[in-house]
Amino acid sequence: MKSQLGEPTHEQPIEMALQEAEEEARRYAVMPARFTFICMEVHIKTDDGQEMLIGSLGDWSCTCRFYEEWNTCSHAMAIESLLKRVFSPPSYL
Ligand SMILES: [Zn+2]
Repeated sequence: MKSQLGEPTHEQPIEMALQEAEEEARRYAVMPARFTFICMEVHIKTDDGQEMLIGSLGDWSCTCRFYEEWNTCSHAMAIESLLKRVFSPPSYL
């Protein structure tokens, strides 16, 4: 009996189940469109200390004074830039 991926059965040895899970993880990891980030809390070490960003792709708010005044800041821009790089599809796809 073949198990559904991600649903280990007692008939399947743990090593085999883990191997299937790792294969599935590798497949998911290169398909960013499958992931929906609802809300993230990100702490950034700044030149002056630490700030906290809350939000998701394209929609961040920050605890810094600059954000309070301008509704954007270097921290929000930085996390957006970082995530764009992380979620850009590799050139080999
Ligand atoms: Zn900020």
